[in-house]
Amino acid sequence: MREYKLVVLGSGGVGKSALTGIFVEKYDPTIEDSYRKQVEVDCQQCMLEILDTDTEDVPMILLGNKCDLEDERVVGKEQGQNLARQWCNCAFLESSAKSKINVNEIFYDLVRQINRK
Ligand code: GDP
Ligand code: MG
Repeated sequence: MREYKLVVLGSGGVGKSALTGIFVEKYDPTIEDSYRKQVEVDCQQCMLEILDTDTEDVPMILLGNKCDLEDERVVGKEQGQNLARQWCNCAFLESSAKSKINVNEIFYDLVRQINRK
């Protein structure tokens, strides 16, 4: 089975742990900030390892979390899309860990990006 190493980046408090914690079922406290889960993407079983580490030039998605809080929106959708294009020429997605919007899609999209490499 292919193993995919994914990294979640972003400022403190934006929801990285909440998103990762919902997505994974098992947290191994012996490996700090490392989460593993077996999933099926496009009929293919894969093992995801989600890490809280920094590296350069990795498949990437620019994510706007907490999209359930529409009343408190600060960054417009189009603004996010433009930033994604400028910064990394990557996809822009909006998610909500609370309302479970686009949570799986974030990680599935990353698997697809790695597959295209
Ligand atoms: P991290 O520092 O990026 O890991 O952020 P956390 O995952 O610890 O989340 C910070 C705070 O934001 C916590 O109080 C979460 O409950 C809250 N939070 C995370 N995701 C969402 C979301 O999608 N919607 C709302 N309303 N709150 C969220
Ligand atoms: Mg965290």
